[in-house]
Amino acid sequence: MTQYVAAIDQGTTSTRCMIFDHSGRVVSVDQKEHEQIFPKAGWVEHDPMEVWQNTRQVAAGALAKADLSTSDIAAVGITNQRETAVVWDKNTGEPVYNAIVWQDTRTDRIVNELGALGGGQERYRAKVGLPLATYFSGPKVRWILDNVEGARDRAEAGDLLFGNMDTWVLWNMTGGTDGGVHVTDPTNASRTMLMDLDTLQWDETIAADMGIPMSMLPEIRSSSEVYGQVRERGALAGVPIAGILGDQQAATFGQACLSPGEAKNTYGTGNFMLLNTGTEKVMSENGLLTTICYKIGDTAPVYALEGSIAVTGSLVQWLRDNLGMISSAAEIEEHARSVEDNGGAYFVPAFSGLFAPYWRSDARGAIVGLTRFVNKGHLARAVLEATAFQTREVLDAMNADSGVDLTALKVDGGMVVNELLMQFQADILGVPVIRPVVAETTALGAAYAAGLAVGFWKSEDDIRDNWAEDKRWEPQMDDARRDSEYANWKKAVTKTFDWVQ
Ligand code: ADP
Repeated sequence: MTQYVAAIDQGTTSTRCMIFDHSGRVVSVDQKEHEQIFPKAGWVEHDPMEVWQNTRQVAAGALAKADLSTSDIAAVGITNQRETAVVWDKNTGEPVYNAIVWQDTRTDRIVNELGALGGGQERYRAKVGLPLATYFSGPKVRWILDNVEGARDRAEAGDLLFGNMDTWVLWNMTGGTDGGVHVTDPTNASRTMLMDLDTLQWDETIAADMGIPMSMLPEIRSSSEVYGQVRERGALAGVPIAGILGDQQAATFGQACLSPGEAKNTYGTGNFMLLNTGTEKVMSENGLLTTICYKIGDTAPVYALEGSIAVTGSLVQWLRDNLGMISSAAEIEEHARSVEDNGGAYFVPAFSGLFAPYWRSDARGAIVGLTRFVNKGHLARAVLEATAFQTREVLDAMNADSGVDLTALKVDGGMVVNELLMQFQADILGVPVIRPVVAETTALGAAYAAGLAVGFWKSEDDIRDNWAEDKRWEPQMDDARRDSEYANWKKAVTKTFDWVQ
């Protein structure tokens, strides 16, 4: 009797394998970080081979830690950092270039040139739900084909394949050059700028605009079905791979936001709020993205509105790695607790420009409001508050677009262990913030997608039943202070504009 489902979570900073039981509890985790490669200002890359090796290791590690064998696992799901683009040779399995990561801004010229063809930033929005921005995969693929010697010829000859990390991992797990399955799901495809949101198929005119041969693109299947079996001789050999969800959509699924109007916010490297809008595709008028939330087997696709924030947890990492101001991410809370408030300082981390709701690739980071009074503790607070203020901006946009005010926010991700941040978040939003018992919702969502496909979980009701509240933070700040803090933040944001032409 197989009692468990596994999930591979190929994230921005690390790759994890998590094993869940039928109640959605974690029984085992193994995790490995990979190198963040910063060749130039604004460039961020990962080595796809390192990521693939880590994937194999953590799959074996997670089984070993719980003393499980492959026959205990009913299915495996994949979730992944979205938009990060890999191009590889299907004959050798070798990537032609490092993976270009979602935060990378090198495609700003390509993006401007595409916009100049007509329509500007809104050129493709009606079809794909996204503004033209460096964030998405299509322009990254174009950059590789333009800049890697011989790549375009090889692509046109049909030798090169494109994938986001889900597709790269799946292709390798299912045999690579020996029969690897070249498939993605609509949640990932909806982040390329190449997928039509109505048909869930690649749009040939956009691909042609971007100079991307159709032969490179993976087949778009559903988020929950058997794509193939693990072909490796090692861990998980023979187990069906039965779910794919981009990490934020996986977290939405894992948080049981399965009905229209339900939303979650994930606090990781960046922050991502998704609101389930049901089978209705809501186009944003307030700087949000329209995206696929999930598509389970043959059922109709479910859509979401998304507010993406590029830099939240990675600002804490920056304080640790670039400034050496803290030695671990957790230490920031101690510094923040050493003072009463931010001392007048505001930190706008526009390191990759600003994503939602601004979509300004010309913005760069700023710390404003400094005086001799400001110390390390105040800066630590400003860093944490930046996450909360950016989230408020996204929540305001969600409320405006959907016409309904959210009355509570379900949260998850690496930063939600930070109690000071969670309290400040509730204060600045003016609504309660709720953390579930299983905060590993991303991996859990991918496991659910895979488990549903093989009948391990029977229906979405099993997922709703498994969700349980762990802790809730109620707003405590008075309205006047909330309004003045938020107004200061808004002013600080304006100081980051027009830095890059
Ligand atoms: P991802 O899936 O994007 O790789 P995670 O959900 O694992 O990210 O979250 C990791 C992020 O959370 C890191 O950017 C880290 O700086 C941040 N983080 C971890 N612990 C804390 C903490 N105690 N306080 C604030 N930030 C934290």
